[in-house]
Amino acid sequence: PSSRRPWVGGNWKAAATKATIGPVVEALNKSGEGFAAEVVIFPSAMHLESTKEALKVDAKIGVQNIHSAEKLGAFTGELVVPQVQDMGLEWVMVGHSERRHLFGEADAVVAEKARVALAAGLKVVVCVGEKLDEREAGQCRAVVVRQLDAVAAVVPAESWAASIVVAYEPVWAIGTGKVASAEQAQEAHKDIREWLEAKIGAAASAACRIVYGGSVKPGNCTGLGAQPDIDGFLVGGAALKPEFVDIIRGAQ
Ligand code: PEP
Repeated sequence: PSSRRPWVGGNWKAAATKATIGPVVEALNKSGEGFAAEVVIFPSAMHLESTKEALKVDAKIGVQNIHSAEKLGAFTGELVVPQVQDMGLEWVMVGHSERRHLFGEADAVVAEKARVALAAGLKVVVCVGEKLDEREAGQCRAVVVRQLDAVAAVVPAESWAASIVVAYEPVWAIGTGKVASAEQAQEAHKDIREWLEAKIGAAASAACRIVYGGSVKPGNCTGLGAQPDIDGFLVGGAALKPEFVDIIRGAQ
């Protein structure tokens, strides 16, 4: 147990329609509780406003990606920070593995997005994680540290405690049904917490939430959540099912 409030994110990717969103929102609203965990839903840009209006529980809404321009402007197809603020949203996700690997976002691009969002006072979930070949080559820690170092190079040190959640998402576990074992996840989270301590400081290391993502389901979240350095989850597929509520309840 730690004093860190658990954090659970639901990443709806480009996988949601009105038909799938309805039952999830209904289940969240019916749960009728203030959750122990901080809950943030990441709908597509299409569904930001309708989801915000439909949700009656204590859950925040965030965007799945952002363009790094600081101002409104001619960036067809993108979202910029002033629009996120205009919508009254607080959270931005950067560096999701699909952004890095399907859309070729380099570490420095991800870091710049984080910098711009934090500079505007938004909160940021920074996703990191190794690919299968990197894990097999023993590079798990090195990859995650490289991705985090890029962010640390451009954001204020004080952001890590208050405004950043780190999501450790091994790429081989995302959308594959192959969840990391509690031991594998805890080892990576411990590496990240040690990196925070060495690079940013003890207070940031103690305060920053580090959440696990990759095939989290109601049936496997308890063992993961019991690990000392796992402070919650980033959930993809299972966040589009009503039982997402059970994962939120499981994050204590
Ligand atoms: C994700 O998209 O961040 C994710 C973890 O997906 P899934 O839960 O479907 O593996």
